[in-house]
Amino acid sequence: MTTPSPQLTQVYVPPPVRLIALEEHFLYDGLLATYDETDRALLAPSRVPGLDEIGDMRIAEMDRAGIDLQVLSHTKPGAQEIEDGAQAAALARAANDYLAEAVARHPTRLAAFATLSTGAPEAAAAELERTVQRMGFKGAMINGHTRGAYLDQQRFWPIFEAAEALGVPIYLHPSNPHPQVFEAYYKDFPQLGFASWGYAVETATHVLRLILSGVFDRFPGLRMVIGHMGELLPFALWRADGRLTPKSPHLKKSVRNTFIDHFSVTTSGVFSTPELMCTASVVGWDNILFSVDYPFESNVEAVRWFSHLPIAESDREKVAHRNAERLLKLSPAPARSAA
Ligand code: MN
Repeated sequence: MTTPSPQLTQVYVPPPVRLIALEEHFLYDGLLATYDETDRALLAPSRVPGLDEIGDMRIAEMDRAGIDLQVLSHTKPGAQEIEDGAQAAALARAANDYLAEAVARHPTRLAAFATLSTGAPEAAAAELERTVQRMGFKGAMINGHTRGAYLDQQRFWPIFEAAEALGVPIYLHPSNPHPQVFEAYYKDFPQLGFASWGYAVETATHVLRLILSGVFDRFPGLRMVIGHMGELLPFALWRADGRLTPKSPHLKKSVRNTFIDHFSVTTSGVFSTPELMCTASVVGWDNILFSVDYPFESNVEAVRWFSHLPIAESDREKVAHRNAERLLKLSPAPARSAA
């Protein structure tokens, strides 16, 4: 949401490396109309300028920072809070069609992750198949729990089965904490319940639940992505693994190796070098991908930080675009236009 000052913009020089960003959001009016009061306030266009625009203004913002490609996803909770499964599926399809039109207008600058009606898992799996096979989508983003239910429940697994068969990743993005968690943890300090802290705790817990469920033994080709520099997990993984793996004889692999083998991590919303170095030392440079979390974060701020990191250029290229090209099966970098 921060806008760089005119002085900074004048001296800013985009880096000479292809930049792909994977956690970049938009808003479809038909879904916003279903959001509760909290989310409508959090996501109001006046509060988050640019969220509801997926055309020339967004491209200009990308150009200003030097971002070549945004993989777009609908802002949370998408269609996941809608009680009626048929309505949720219809609205998810409408949001995906709307997004596909925007991508078709800027096919070299925008790509798409599908929105899914997770509450209707069979319809969600069919929609993932439709968007990937007919519209060229690169995977899907799922926003946390579905009306209080987490993805370790096997009723959701048709979605993972489809993702594995299609060879596309599922990006697990935060949503508001489970209502009972919010009541217990955050009621007295509601500002703790969202992006400051609550989203990461919620998402990290969700990831560990998924690992313990055995979903990655069932679908060994399943790839997932999480944002925000790993949602606290890289820092916490050693202890979690040490306590959980001995108590999980039902799993084929350790908790640590399951995390490393199945998850990629993006830099969305965390433009800080110590956190990056911790994450890289745990998951390796092949599993870290550049992202911003636009328009909640500033493209220029993210790119400026990333461009000045004291890391090997070969690692910078992996994070900037090579890992994303591999994970999302994108064609390699076209030459940058001299515009
Ligand atoms: Mn985000």
